Amino acid sequence: MTDELAGTPRQRAATSQVHAGYSPGVVQNTAVPPIYQTTAYRFDSLADARDIFALRKAGNLYSRSASPTQLVLEERVAALEGGRTAAAVASGQAAVAVTLLALARQGEHIVAARQLYGGTVDLLQDTFADWGIEVTFVDQDDLEAWRNAIRPQTRVLFAESITNPIAQVLDIRAVADIAHAAGVPLVIDNTVATPALIRPVEHGADFVVHSATKFLGGHGTSMGGVVVDLGTFDFGADPDRWPQLTRPYSRVADVVLWDRFGAQGQAFIALIKSKYVHDLGPSLSPFNAFQLLQGIETLDLRIARHSASALAVARALEGHPRVNRVHHPALTASPWNPLAERYLPRGGPSVFAFDLDATGDAEADWASVETFIDALEVVGLVANIGDARSLVAHPASMTHSHLSDEQFAAAHITPTTVRLSIGLEDPDDIIADLRAALERSA
Ligand SMILES: *Cc1c(COP(=O)(O)O)cnc(C)c1O
Repeated sequence: MTDELAGTPRQRAATSQVHAGYSPGVVQNTAVPPIYQTTAYRFDSLADARDIFALRKAGNLYSRSASPTQLVLEERVAALEGGRTAAAVASGQAAVAVTLLALARQGEHIVAARQLYGGTVDLLQDTFADWGIEVTFVDQDDLEAWRNAIRPQTRVLFAESITNPIAQVLDIRAVADIAHAAGVPLVIDNTVATPALIRPVEHGADFVVHSATKFLGGHGTSMGGVVVDLGTFDFGADPDRWPQLTRPYSRVADVVLWDRFGAQGQAFIALIKSKYVHDLGPSLSPFNAFQLLQGIETLDLRIARHSASALAVARALEGHPRVNRVHHPALTASPWNPLAERYLPRGGPSVFAFDLDATGDAEADWASVETFIDALEVVGLVANIGDARSLVAHPASMTHSHLSDEQFAAAHITPTTVRLSIGLEDPDDIIADLRAALERSA
């Protein structure tokens, strides 16, 4: 993964990840964007306050809506994704929720990949059901299933560019084409790939969401989420379908968001911020925005290391007698290798899984997984991914413990499937740790 990241028209990614969204000269000439730890902002005058409230003028108001530290983060992630505007929120979960709520309202419908992150599945099949938003889950590799699931009420297609734990690679272009044929946008959760590996805008996606908690922050310290409007979806092409943007806005008299902000690519983000973040309150703290910015400054360097180490680990595991199967899309044995060749020229994911060999005796198999995981010393048992530290998890007893046998099979997860998130340690130490634990579990 030594080749250059694709650049934005203005700056290449490695430059954007350090500079986008901030120019010193503001207030105290701080070289680094400061933490604006204030709840609210003083207006210049009542006229100024009136203009800001009426969305006639952009300005700082109250930190539930935004802080200047957060605005730098938003611009930076938008630049890295090749998008136009972004909204940063308190968590990846909040980013997914506000994005989908802004697109699909009560009585409307979402088509989603069934390989989604567990928290997203809970949101879609439980909470959204409570709110009268219907969701159909499809196997993300089955293009016919995506097409067949679309109804007149469908408002969005949603999937992850690389899934967890099996690291399936999505054919983003094919699903984007299906969405656009139906007149709806494709939203991609780009958490596992990050724009350092995949930029969904180059493959037809319309919006990107991130759990910035993971690789963008990259150090396992701070929760956050980001939504990016890639500027490709035209809500004005079929205005009756998107009244939330094309009819007078309930919050501000005489404003139609699409008319006022559409040309600048700000309409959708304005809806998210002024309605969903404003009402539900999942605001990002200025401190976390600052932490996430620190992480992003080294994104390409870290991802290059994560990717290279993960591939070395995957190869070491692939040849190990205690390992049945390694689910890494850069390995030629993976069913997703052709898609990886197409979508991942800069490197593969560092979140992937492998299956320990199994006897078929459930108790013995669980015992050997348990011995293996408890014997690890460098790799920590943690319910997270995208940390500087290498992490392990056991989906069958952790993230996926409430799935039925059928859902397990569909997710390609077995009782001996082990998930890894390869960190920034020396890869030889990671491999030695895994080998020693495999020996202990034999
Ligand atoms: C972690 C994760 C989320 C949720 O993000 P939080 O920051 O934990 O709220 C969403 N999508 C994916 C792919 C994730 O890995």
